[in-house]
Amino acid sequence: MIIVLKENPEQQQLKNLEEWLKGMNIEIHPTEGIHSTILGLVGDTTRVDIDLIQALDIVESVKRIQEPYKSVNRKFHPLDTVITVENTSIGGDIFAKIAGPCSVESEEQIIAIAEEVKAAGATILRGGAFKPRTSPYAFQGMGGEGIDLLLKAKKATGLPIVTEVMDLSQLDLFADVDVIQVGARNMQNFQLLKELGKSDKPILLKRGLSATISELLMSAEYIMAGGNEKVILCERGIRTFETATRNTLDISAIPVLKELSHLPVVIDPSHSAGIARFVPTLTMAAVAAGADGIMIEVHNDPSKALCDGPQSIKPDAFKTISENIDTLRATIKELK
Ligand code: PEP
Ligand code: MN
Repeated sequence: MIIVLKENPEQQQLKNLEEWLKGMNIEIHPTEGIHSTILGLVGDTTRVDIDLIQALDIVESVKRIQEPYKSVNRKFHPLDTVITVENTSIGGDIFAKIAGPCSVESEEQIIAIAEEVKAAGATILRGGAFKPRTSPYAFQGMGGEGIDLLLKAKKATGLPIVTEVMDLSQLDLFADVDVIQVGARNMQNFQLLKELGKSDKPILLKRGLSATISELLMSAEYIMAGGNEKVILCERGIRTFETATRNTLDISAIPVLKELSHLPVVIDPSHSAGIARFVPTLTMAAVAAGADGIMIEVHNDPSKALCDGPQSIKPDAFKTISENIDTLRATIKELK
């Protein structure tokens, strides 16, 4: 971090600033210019509040050289993180194919879909038990019973499961869940993130509707700062001025996240598009851009789905996508 001081700074304020920084184990390297002095800060500046420094009367400007996140930062962890999930993994050589309905609706529904997506190459089964819905009158999910049904589907197919936790009070029900999802609307529920930091389960963290990449990484940092290093980042489309799709898939987020962080990046083309027929194209774009996996909503009868039917594809379409992912990945491997 670099602090540029105003001309003739008030000495007591400067002393206070220096002592405060030294108290955080930060070395200060001053460079005296003709009109102003520059303080170069060396050490772990992640805990330094840049806004607080900026607000001081003696300070002209402040610039961060190092990102405000440490655990998620590739600079301190150059190799890609590979997260083991039961008999499969996310990150590394295996491309994660996460598929399943938006929400668990019945035993027959979840087991039938689980069997079909497994046959089509899915590595992990998804399904919402607790659903964050815009309308309080919409189907809110089956709750704990939905988790029990996911576990039955896991038993029937061997697929590990991922499902969303909406609130701290639900966490006890997630004891046998393989991957816990934090939904877009909860990306900055810091109390929840802190609690998940104490868990040893992989966390699939979805980017908030209007969150920047930096904010997504800071939320991942919350989980990692608590000791849980198993975080999977998920880009699921962001709010823009465009209304042709439900959200705008930020494809650029893939290379940017992969450069800034060592954590695996999964793309959710279903919530990005909001329209089933665009899901195959967005999936291919995500694969080509270097994603470590995809999460796709699959329903055996989308027209009757209790949630997100319009963006859900059928199992046979998922099979085609799954095969195309493998073909495209093999082709990409040959590129220089
Ligand atoms: C979901 O995955 O079903 C979901 C609700 O996603 P998001 O939080 O991205 O809207
Ligand atoms: Mn959904």
